[in-house]
Amino acid sequence: MNMQFKSDKKREDRGGGAQMFELSCSKCGTKFFHYQKDGPGPLLRLYLDRIHAPKKYVGLQARPLKDIMVLDCKKCGRLIGMPAMYKPEKRKSYRLFEGALSKKRIRLDAEF
Ligand SMILES: [Zn+2]
Repeated sequence: MNMQFKSDKKREDRGGGAQMFELSCSKCGTKFFHYQKDGPGPLLRLYLDRIHAPKKYVGLQARPLKDIMVLDCKKCGRLIGMPAMYKPEKRKSYRLFEGALSKKRIRLDAEF
């Protein structure tokens, strides 16, 4: 597992800070991702290149947008997010439905 924050121009553009969060379904608590959030502000979208775990979601950004699945909770059925291109950065993301995910700050080396 990669225990380092990803660091690049996109992170620098957001002030250089980064935090790791565990994201889970706000309705039933099912765990979704370990996600690196760069910079301050609310979580409106997930950039696919910032998902650190689980493995099956790491590297999703390499797929064509049309092949990226809608994000829903397999346990309770809640719709979490829709794949979308974030045009200002030409970066693939999940646009989140408001309040769909709960976030908890975790250590960089936390087990998924
Ligand atoms: Zn759920």
